Amino acid sequence: GPIQESDLQNLAELGMGNGGSVVKVEHIPSGVIMAKKIVLIDAKPSVRKQILRELHIMHRCSSPYIVSSFGAYISEPNICICMEYMNKGSFDSIYKSIGRHEQPSTRIQGTEESTEGPIPISIVRQAAKRVLGGLIYLYEAMGVLHRDIKPSNILLNSEGQVKLCDFGVSGELENSVAKTFVGTSVYMSPERIQGSDYSIKSDVWSLGITLIELAHGCFPFADTEVDESPSDSGTINSALLSPASIHTKRRSRRRSKGVSEHGGVNTLSILELMHHIVREPPPALITPFIPHSKDFAGEAAQFVDQCLKKNPNERKSPRELLAMSWMEDEGREDELDLKMWARTL
Ligand code: ADP
Ligand code: MG
Repeated sequence: GPIQESDLQNLAELGMGNGGSVVKVEHIPSGVIMAKKIVLIDAKPSVRKQILRELHIMHRCSSPYIVSSFGAYISEPNICICMEYMNKGSFDSIYKSIGRHEQPSTRIQGTEESTEGPIPISIVRQAAKRVLGGLIYLYEAMGVLHRDIKPSNILLNSEGQVKLCDFGVSGELENSVAKTFVGTSVYMSPERIQGSDYSIKSDVWSLGITLIELAHGCFPFADTEVDESPSDSGTINSALLSPASIHTKRRSRRRSKGVSEHGGVNTLSILELMHHIVREPPPALITPFIPHSKDFAGEAAQFVDQCLKKNPNERKSPRELLAMSWMEDEGREDELDLKMWARTL
């Protein structure tokens, strides 16, 4: 039967995002552990019902690269979406926690500028391949674009499975949430920022930014970091509500164009960042050459270049990207086993 609020027991907070919060729950009748996403929406009952109908598409999704759905229901004033729980969390929390374990004292002097990322490039490669599989499935089998590719929407479990969540099945949900939150993201492609047609190529751009972030261990634009302190409005912890909410990392010594000083904190407003994305050359993946192996790094950099063409017509599609050499599994002696790696986390 359909999932009911009264059948769920809260176990832990999994995180807070722009659109709501996610809680680890147990579905008592079945004993299944789930992730319950709570979205505060501003919509009439008729629109809420439409949202539920649209969310039903998630039920029909069946792919190893897409988080499965157990159902959605209304719990005034929220909509709750129950999905598969991924016990290693999202790639943003994974790379941030790896970064935290790394003690500065254990680093070799002069390696601070090293571009070796906290997520090994071999893992980034395998994750990229699965994200492409997920994008192709959503687009070709479900007829939907993802629309929100970013590290926090790419999840991992201890089976070594990588799956996408939070894809754009419900236009009405997006509309209703957009009333409360500025519907903008730092992973947006230049054409989307400019209000042009959204296509699968826009998801590919977001993938390119995501891959750089994972491989470098930081967000790729202008040493910026999204401020995650609660907003004054007291509604939702949203980095995108405030116009000047992108803060550069304090430890950063490099100075980038468009970054200004405000009381000791370097800030780049979300608007400045949007202008930067539209006007400046795209970022690139920088990885060191690894001797005695295939030129892994070169292949990775080429792949990311193809994701980050500013003109969407020049940007490769997910199927074209799958055909690139970086996506070939054969002959990769230094490949890490995804499942074994996941279990070290
Ligand atoms: P965002 O994706 O913007 O961070 P969300 O509200 O979508 O915000 O998610 C908050 C956090 O909850 C995510 O960063 C992720 O770490 C965690 N999360 C979301 N869905 C799941 C899931 N199915 N399994 C485990 N963790 C999840
Ligand atoms: Mg999310």
